[in-house]
Amino acid sequence: MRKKIIAGNWKMNKLPNETIEFIEELAPLIKNTENEVVICAPYIDLFYALLTVQGTNIKIGAQNMHFEEKGAYTGEVSGEMLKSIGVEYVIIGHSARRQYYDETDKAVNEKLKKALSIGLKPIVCVGENLEQRENGKAKEIVTTQTKLALEGINGENAKKTIIAYEPIWAIGTGKTATKEDANETIKWIREEIEKIYGKDIADCVIIQYGGSVKSTNAKDLFTMPDIDGGLIGGASLNAQEFANIINYNK
Ligand code: PEP
Repeated sequence: MRKKIIAGNWKMNKLPNETIEFIEELAPLIKNTENEVVICAPYIDLFYALLTVQGTNIKIGAQNMHFEEKGAYTGEVSGEMLKSIGVEYVIIGHSARRQYYDETDKAVNEKLKKALSIGLKPIVCVGENLEQRENGKAKEIVTTQTKLALEGINGENAKKTIIAYEPIWAIGTGKTATKEDANETIKWIREEIEKIYGKDIADCVIIQYGGSVKSTNAKDLFTMPDIDGGLIGGASLNAQEFANIINYNK
């Protein structure tokens, strides 16, 4: 059975002292969960977060990485740098990065290859915008993004890749996909993975849902058969609310 991974994406929020306070508040609230708990914090907070999660069941992720190991890439951070301080997860191709920083499917693929090659656990985001959904293009968009992200990646590594289906129209808007729509779209993604790698591998791939998940809708979404947890933005900024989401099955 696939594990549920509940990951918080803090985006550009929280200072180091707020990071420490948040983790100290969250840790006792979720200590009995069997779900994997991840906080994807801003770069500047990562080291503080890693020190504070010691002895807890909380894992730490970054929100982006460069695909080169080092070089003249001013302002960038490499996967190797993240790995060297103990970061375990990394979000790749978040819609904010695709939208505001022109991150292409090719860059997503290169970052994914690098993350896998150095043992970082990648969370690759895919998702359609409102116009694409309304024009019946959602399936084409998410399956194409998935295929391009996975280009040249072998089955063993595909199994280690976490996909987050995040409809862009649901991110930070308060609008959530219905549990049926989210599940159906995730099924399309899984079918695409099956076409490339076969059913055994497709059945192992963890596919999350993201887009205005809150404690009030988490259970509905995460108990759907194809939804393996979530990537949570706004609601992951409050420790009690994030804990309620993580404990949706308690
Ligand atoms: C996200 O940032 O990936 C996200 C899903 O945000 P929100 O939960 O706020 O919609």
